[in-house]
Amino acid sequence: MGHYSALAVAREAFRDHRGWQRAWKSPEPRRRYDVVIVGAGGHGLATAYHLGRNHGITNVAILEKGWLGGGNTGRNTTIIRSNYLQDASAAIYEKARALYETLSQDLNYNVMFSPRGVMMLAQTEHEVRGYRRTAHANALQGVETEFIEPGRVKELCPIIEVRGPRYPVLGALWQPRGGTARHDAVAWGYARRCSEMGMDIIQKCEVTGIRTSGGEVKGVVTTRGDVDCGKLGIVVAGHSGHLAEMAGFRLPVESVALQALVSEPVKPCMDVVVMANTVHGYMSQSDKGEMVIGGGADGFVNYTQRGSFSHIEETVRALVETFPMISRLKMLRHWGGIVDMTGDRSPILSRTPVGNLFINCGWGTGGFKAIPGSGWGFAELMAKGESPLCAAFGLDRFREGRFIDESVAAGVAH
Ligand SMILES: Cc1cc2nc3c(=O)[nH]c(=O)nc-3n(C[C@H](O)[C@H](O)[C@H](O)COP(=O)(O)OP(=O)(O)OC[C@H]3O[C@@H](n4cnc5c(N)ncnc54)[C@H](O)[C@@H]3O)c2cc1C
Repeated sequence: MGHYSALAVAREAFRDHRGWQRAWKSPEPRRRYDVVIVGAGGHGLATAYHLGRNHGITNVAILEKGWLGGGNTGRNTTIIRSNYLQDASAAIYEKARALYETLSQDLNYNVMFSPRGVMMLAQTEHEVRGYRRTAHANALQGVETEFIEPGRVKELCPIIEVRGPRYPVLGALWQPRGGTARHDAVAWGYARRCSEMGMDIIQKCEVTGIRTSGGEVKGVVTTRGDVDCGKLGIVVAGHSGHLAEMAGFRLPVESVALQALVSEPVKPCMDVVVMANTVHGYMSQSDKGEMVIGGGADGFVNYTQRGSFSHIEETVRALVETFPMISRLKMLRHWGGIVDMTGDRSPILSRTPVGNLFINCGWGTGGFKAIPGSGWGFAELMAKGESPLCAAFGLDRFREGRFIDESVAAGVAH
């Protein structure tokens, strides 16, 4: 597969761009693979990539019922940060954030990582205390964050009204190397490298059953025939419960719709990401000029992959006091994705009751930022049977009461 470079772009410009190869192949499924990954979202593709790159396992198929990146990976608002409270979370999210720094070079694909800085506004005294505590925890964990005063908030983001009548801005938790990346490009970049390593990415191939024998996984039933495997990884976000049921166990996960919207494009007015957890909304500006706006998840279990009018009203109402300028913007589009929420708002990266079957899910409203770290850790877990990055995120924690409570860090969907 050709190397993307400025020289390659110049060369192709002289021959009407006819020399580009397909970024990934579309093969027919084979009868057997060493490893099958279900779900070609960011986490499934990153897992496959690291299986090949870190562990030399390339006889891998990634099976996707729709198109790659068409789940939550291609629907999220792309915020990347690692300012979590608990040590296990900070470790995996910071590993991911650090990998994002060089992901474009590693994949030879421009994922447009933009470390423009993320701030989480403190709009109550309770939040001030909470974020000061997180800043201290982050200092101990080696995650670079600081608590900043309202004047600095205004300096970094002039369109914020810091003296709001109901919720004045009292400060913020600031992570200067947080930011955004282009979500589709992350999926496409991993897919291209996986295909280059000889892995099969098979789209429009739904897994409808899981075959086991003697307590071990043997393969999957798909809409394109049976596929045998040595190891199976389930990485299907909001559909994790269904896949677990196929394998005969239950997950402590609820699936709900999470929605977002973008405004019409406007001139550059905001070059940081702002989250306002008390009022429950967040905003950034895309490279195209659209204001990217998100809020909370639906309050009831559902599988509706689209936006709703009540949600737009709720989210915009939440943000308009802090960002008065959005009251005049027109909405361009809105959408939804099905996210998988655990009780402690932390993910599951785990072995399962079925031998050689592993599960990666529960990223809920905030898994885009974790994709490179999750892929790194989950590939290690699948290859070696254990991984320091994943150790705390096992399924057992729900039975043993070892919760990794991140309800504050994940207080607003992001
Ligand atoms: C509106 C919205 C905003 C968000 N904002 C952010 C944010 O700003 N920052 C952040 O970090 N996170 C955010 N998230 C969360 C983030 O998008 C997800 O946590 C992450 O993308 C999950 O990736 P994934 O690879 O696990 O799942 P997905 O990308 O959903 O991939 C799972 C894939 O599995 C496939 N699949 C399902 N069932 C089957 C089957 N039976 N057979 C074969 N394939 C199957 C699906 O089609 C899908 O493509 C947001 C999510 C939403 C919906």
